[in-house]
Amino acid sequence: MKVTIDLPERDYSGHPGYEPDGALASNAPCAGCGEELYGLAVRMLPFGWLHAEREEDAEGKTCQEAAVEKILADPRTGWLAVAAHVAKAPSAHSAATIRAVITNLTAMANGATR
Ligand SMILES: [Zn+2]
Repeated sequence: MKVTIDLPERDYSGHPGYEPDGALASNAPCAGCGEELYGLAVRMLPFGWLHAEREEDAEGKTCQEAAVEKILADPRTGWLAVAAHVAKAPSAHSAATIRAVITNLTAMANGATR
């Protein structure tokens, strides 16, 4: 089963440390590496705002990619993360996604593993 979630995003390009409206950022460093947010950032539960864009000279995964890997390492963690997004904004998700979340959480609550 594949679930796609649109994550809230902010673009800090050109103004690291500042919100897109020009206000000083609310002191939220990247939830992955603890550094200041720059470029494209996405909010992924249960972590928070994460770097979603690699700095030009950087190698490896973005903080978002690392967070996705962490979540997908355990199906329970994955479904709980998806459930957190669905609970926060139910109308932003398809009926199929909501059904999958409820089905899997119910199975987890019943002690089944998927
Ligand atoms: Zn980061």
